[in-house]
Amino acid sequence: DKTLHIVGGGMAGAEAAWQAAEAGIDVVLHEMRPKVETFAHQTGNLAEMVCSNSFRSDDDEQNAVGLLHWEMRAANGLIMTSADQHKLPAGGALAVDRDAFSDWITNRLQGHPKVTVALGEITALPDGGHWIFATGPLTSSDLGAAIAQETGKDALAFFDAIAPIVYFDSIDMSRAWMQSRYDKGETEEERTAYLNCPMDKDQYEAFIDALLSADKTEFHEGETAGYFDGCLPIEVMAERGRETLRHGPMKPVGLTNPHQPEIKAHAVVQLRRDNKLGTLFNIVGFQTKMKYGAQTDVFRMIPGLENAKFARLGGIHRNTFLNSPTLLDSQMRLRSRPHIRFAGQITGVEGYVESAAMGLVAGRMAAAEILGHEIAPPPPTTAMGALITHITGGAEAKTFQPMNVNFGLFPPLEGVKGGRRGRKDRYKAYTDRAKIDMADWLRAQPLPA
Ligand code: FAD
Repeated sequence: DKTLHIVGGGMAGAEAAWQAAEAGIDVVLHEMRPKVETFAHQTGNLAEMVCSNSFRSDDDEQNAVGLLHWEMRAANGLIMTSADQHKLPAGGALAVDRDAFSDWITNRLQGHPKVTVALGEITALPDGGHWIFATGPLTSSDLGAAIAQETGKDALAFFDAIAPIVYFDSIDMSRAWMQSRYDKGETEEERTAYLNCPMDKDQYEAFIDALLSADKTEFHEGETAGYFDGCLPIEVMAERGRETLRHGPMKPVGLTNPHQPEIKAHAVVQLRRDNKLGTLFNIVGFQTKMKYGAQTDVFRMIPGLENAKFARLGGIHRNTFLNSPTLLDSQMRLRSRPHIRFAGQITGVEGYVESAAMGLVAGRMAAAEILGHEIAPPPPTTAMGALITHITGGAEAKTFQPMNVNFGLFPPLEGVKGGRRGRKDRYKAYTDRAKIDMADWLRAQPLPA
């Protein structure tokens, strides 16, 4: 049977269905709403935007998410076509009229001669056929249990606990230093996996005060299951006692500051390398429910991070996602059951645009496979390729958490320097390179136009 079944008609599933149908494949799109609801969705529409109505920056020369827009437009993306048609004035951001946006997509897919929309929940992983699962951060609980049974329960998370991620080149290395605690690690790679930022007593006390008084967000209704072990927000740890952090993630033991070897730090903030390229570092144990503005203010109090640029800020959300680096191959297929692909936020990307982009690629890969071809993933120099490379291999599997697209995921460029002007040139060079490579990738595909 050459039918492609897609489970979940959200951002990723709708885009995957469109891409495969346009390539001439018969698609059945299974969507549980409105029969089964989630706490966040409000309608029975396909591609419903559950919260903000923004697709973020539309700048395809200086912004990685804007570049993703460009790539999806180049690939005949349904989500971008609808976004462009239902755009609202919003400065540099691409904001849309959410109801018109998803009504149009629903009509387009329901009216497509190759697409059947089947309303109903899928609760098990199928034994045969061609499937894409794109059931999102709020995957229904029966299906979540079935996936966990296949993957092992440690490889499927139901919450994310995102610590802020900092660009390495924005860290002041005249204050911070590289060292693993007690110099643990066999290889050079392991010994350079950690960066440390020291605090004296006054800095620590001021930092605790700032954490306690910062603006926080609440869990969405229906979202809370209480905090889970090992993932307390940093401000909640601080509320438990002013010394708690100094005995937890900020403990100063097993480390010597080469800039001031004679002074014992009162507390140390550790950052851990977040990708193989070494361009991104996450602040260890700093998952947080602080508001974004408060996070940048508070985290820039850390010595060495005064000018930190954040690839992403922290958060804790209800979010079902796979440990993709261990579970998925570079074709986004489940290694243990290769007739099943995953796409969208459940693969460990974060956001409407990233999720739709993963749907786009999965839809094309599945269509090509059904037609008897295999297409290579987009090159890692493109925004889509950088994301896929990250989730299916570039990210550290042990600490894998959902990721937004950002330039830290791209292979570095030769010969383009840092600094403010340098950064603009670098981003432009990244996006120029990506556009050429994306066009080549699209041209090389065996799919009918
Ligand atoms: P979804 O768009 O959620 O689509 C998954 C679909 O699968 C849903 O339609 C669901 O009904 C269906 N489904 C689930 N289980 C089954 C099943 N067993 N059988 C059949 N169908 C099923 N991202 C942003 O960019 N901006 C935001 O402001 C934002 N706010 C968010 C707020 C909340 C509360 C949540 C939970 C997420 C938010 N996100 C936001 C993330 C956003 O939801 C995703 O990035 C995006 O919607 C993911 O696309 P997706 O296709 O992977 O999943």
